[in-house]
Amino acid sequence: MSEFSLIAKYFTRPAANADLGVGDDAALLRVQEGHQLAISVDMLVAGTHFYKDADPYTVGWKSMAVNISDMAAMGAAPKWATLAIALPKIDEDWLAEFARGLFACAERFNVSLIGGDTTHGPLNISVQIMGEVPTSQALVRASAQADDDIWVSGHLGSAALGLAHLQQKVSLPETALTHCLQRLHTPTPRVDLGLALRGIASSCIDVSDGLLADLGHILHNSKVGASIHLEQIACHDYLKNRLEQPLIQQCITAGGDDYELIFTAPRSKRDVINTLSGQLNLPLSLIGAVTAEQTLQVQYQARNLNIARKGYDHFE
Ligand code: ADP
Ligand code: MG
Repeated sequence: MSEFSLIAKYFTRPAANADLGVGDDAALLRVQEGHQLAISVDMLVAGTHFYKDADPYTVGWKSMAVNISDMAAMGAAPKWATLAIALPKIDEDWLAEFARGLFACAERFNVSLIGGDTTHGPLNISVQIMGEVPTSQALVRASAQADDDIWVSGHLGSAALGLAHLQQKVSLPETALTHCLQRLHTPTPRVDLGLALRGIASSCIDVSDGLLADLGHILHNSKVGASIHLEQIACHDYLKNRLEQPLIQQCITAGGDDYELIFTAPRSKRDVINTLSGQLNLPLSLIGAVTAEQTLQVQYQARNLNIARKGYDHFE
């Protein structure tokens, strides 16, 4: 199979929202009047971000999902993606499953694949995502204010606990394992939440590296600090019932890969946010407050927790 028949067979689908999609030297897009183009790229490397023998469907899903999550965190509507992929060999079974996962996620969030690059080399997947946000309404990291509430969506810690199981640091019972691996392999980007938070949140970020590391980026950019409470963070019952265990605390506060949103908002928005939680059928937990003092405190049972690692860093 040639490079071009591979692209035609696996990566060419109609792009309704582009003037020109896959097949030319460049794609052609139109950004709506009064909007800004939001762009982000995330690379997934075999052996670093997923195991070489990982299920190709979930590798495809996750490559798209982690990028869409960046749009959600900006309050942008995801619309277009490009895919740069290096393949060690042409394995059609692998490609078919990878494409199925990638397009399943893209279609669920109305994203069109409009181009890319295909080459030979160690397995490496780079997806670039593009979306739109009304001018000046993006949710950025630098505008959290002292006394704002700190919120987090969904359940934290499950993806990291699933990974801990795969690394044989813990042995999970079947129901918890199914849930945790589903969260690790096929995360759900919180696009509807990100869109709804425009005009409500004062800052926002998605949890890719870990709660404390990612909240730390908001605090650093906004020149503020925070105090949060471990008990107030929503998590799966398996974790909730073991909050006293250091591994569980580590998964919740420093585990990456949950792709939930952390956001800050003025106290006056509490009712709106609680209503939104019901509308979206998504837990939104009020976990603490922004402080003028530039420190980050995590409390558990009314005492300060000493967390060794704040999150994932590829070079640490
Ligand atoms: P060029 O020679 O101009 O760089 P390519 O031969 O790399 O073009 O790609 C041909 C077309 O296929 C282009 O429109 C490109 O965007 C698209 N394409 C290549 N690889 C992929 C991929 N993995 N996914 C989606 N589109 C792809
Ligand atoms: Mg090219």
